[in-house]
Amino acid sequence: AKGKEHINLAFIGHVDHGKSTLVGHVLLQSGAIAEQQLSDGENKFRFVMDKLTEERERGVTIDLAHAKFETPKYEFTIVDCPGHRDFVKNMITGASQADAAVLVVAIDDGIMPQTKEHIFLARTLGINQLIIGINKMDLVKYDEAKFNALKDELGALIKTVAYDPAKVHFIPLSAFEGDNIKENSANTPWYKGPALVPALDEFSAPEKPTNLPLRVPIQDVYSITGVGTVPVGRIETGIMKKADNVIFEPAGKAGEVKSIEMHHEMMDSAEPGDNVGFNVRGVGKNDIRRGDVAGHTDNAPTVAKEFTAQIVVMQHPGVITVGYTPVFHCHTAQVACTFLELVQKMNPATGAVEEKNPDFLKTGNAAIVKVKPTKPMVIENVKEIPHMGRFAIRDMGQTVAAGMCIDIVKAK
Ligand code: GDP
Repeated sequence: AKGKEHINLAFIGHVDHGKSTLVGHVLLQSGAIAEQQLSDGENKFRFVMDKLTEERERGVTIDLAHAKFETPKYEFTIVDCPGHRDFVKNMITGASQADAAVLVVAIDDGIMPQTKEHIFLARTLGINQLIIGINKMDLVKYDEAKFNALKDELGALIKTVAYDPAKVHFIPLSAFEGDNIKENSANTPWYKGPALVPALDEFSAPEKPTNLPLRVPIQDVYSITGVGTVPVGRIETGIMKKADNVIFEPAGKAGEVKSIEMHHEMMDSAEPGDNVGFNVRGVGKNDIRRGDVAGHTDNAPTVAKEFTAQIVVMQHPGVITVGYTPVFHCHTAQVACTFLELVQKMNPATGAVEEKNPDFLKTGNAAIVKVKPTKPMVIENVKEIPHMGRFAIRDMGQTVAAGMCIDIVKAK
């Protein structure tokens, strides 16, 4: 419904621990899908996830239509696609940075490699709010002692990356049977905390980053009769008002905002989350392009000559060495960048330094690296403008790594 605050939610966790099943159940119980749409059998929620995948594959950094569901307090959008590694790319580029995550851990398997990786990744990507669902409780006959043992192990694990276990709900679930999803289950009378959906309502909605500098990554540039050149993009941070002086970087073209339009209506100002078309005096269709970023002339978008990044290698068939030049997807820009230096390799679960100046990086490694864009590109330090500092690295048709910019050598 209108007026509800919005939260982007990721479901993370080791493969086969029940994320798809859980998401399906949450969508079902919140009325986002009708029961008769479900087919029987093990894969009864699979179609929901297939639908999400299709939608995701249609767009890269453009607006992605994701499954939405409502709780009494919030409207949630699921930004993860369980079981698909590309979710990280979606989380860090475009409109779908996750504000919170549900980590799913199956009681029979316990902590697995991806459990650790995803916790570290969630932390790296700035997800500060976490719920842990201990799933498949039906397999252990809802045994409280087994639940507590895994809860303690997980508590110790998340503490190593500075999540406070006291502020995290650990919920015994059976995604399969539907226990503790919307209401507390009679199968776990010993559990005194909230069920999953009420726990989701304890999250805080992110504040709109209106106080940060204005940044509008350009998605497209149109030429409209009677108006002129109309760049289109989503306001990531800051506020754009009519008569503001804005500059497009790296194009270096500047002018005054003459009009702002959203959903075919003229507006005097636009704020984070608004998808707008706007016209800037003196800026023509061939002056700017997708991947440029608009900002105020007195606080222009940062053009990087080189930058330092913290990355996680998610899937690479070989090794990454100095000289490797894959495509970086950052906001709406896609720019090939060359690895200049592998500064250090870190433990992907804890972030502890494992090796200085390693010869190569491979799947599963986390690292600090220095890179050089092959052409001018706008990127911001995540500490200053988090929304503009995250990127995905793509090569051979897949996302090979994800990361964030932690230092910049400016081009201008
Ligand atoms: P994902 O890879 O994390 O998305 O996991 P899925 O949702 O695809 O589930 C993997 C398997 O575990 C499937 O066969 C599910 O039917 C099964 N599963 C999921 N949740 C539960 C549960 O709560 N109890 C039991 N017994 N099986 C489950």
